[in-house]
Amino acid sequence: KYEEFNDNEYLEQLRASGTNVIVGCLDDVINWGRSNSLWPLTFATSCCGIEFMAVGAARYDFSRFGFEVTRASPRQADFIMVAGTIVHKMAPVLKRLYDQMAEPKYVIAVGGCAISGGPFKNSYHVVKGVDSIIPVDVYIPGCPPRPEALLYGMIQLQRKVKVERFLGGKNHKEKENKE
Ligand code: SF4
Repeated sequence: KYEEFNDNEYLEQLRASGTNVIVGCLDDVINWGRSNSLWPLTFATSCCGIEFMAVGAARYDFSRFGFEVTRASPRQADFIMVAGTIVHKMAPVLKRLYDQMAEPKYVIAVGGCAISGGPFKNSYHVVKGVDSIIPVDVYIPGCPPRPEALLYGMIQLQRKVKVERFLGGKNHKEKENKE
C-alpha cells in the first residue's frame, strides 16, 4: 500500500530484514512506456507533409525517439500530426479519423496552415486552425517547420505524456472534456 511505503519505519524494517525494495509511482512507469512508443497516424494534406516524411526518413529518423512506425489505421495510432492545409471539405474527415483513434490520443498541429490557416487564412475554403475541430496538444509553427522543429514538437508531446496522472490528477480525458 502507498501509505505503508510512505512509512519510514516500515521501510527501515524491510531494510533491516535485508529485503530489497523499489518504490515507484505506477503512473511514471506506465507513462515511461507510453511516451517512448507513441505511434503517429499517416496523415498529411500538403507541403508540411513533406517535412513529416523527411523526419521519418533516415536522416532525422524519428524512430530513434520511440515514434517508431507510422500507422495507416487510426485505431493503431497514438497521435495525429496534422501536417498541411485543412479545407472545410476535409474537416469532417479529420474529425472522423480523430474519433476513430483509441484513448489516450493526442494531436500535433504542424505548420501555419494547421495552426491558423497560414498563408491561406484569408481564403474562404480553409479552416483557420484545426483546434476548432479537434483538441491540439502541441503546436509547431513554421511554413513549413524544419524537421528539427518537428522532432522538437514530438519530444514536447513525450514530455506532456510523461507527467499525465491517471488517479487523483488531471488526465487526458478530463482535459478534453473541459475543452
Ligand atoms: Fe505548406 Fe506552409 Fe501550409 Fe505548411 S504551413 S502546408 S508549408 S503553406
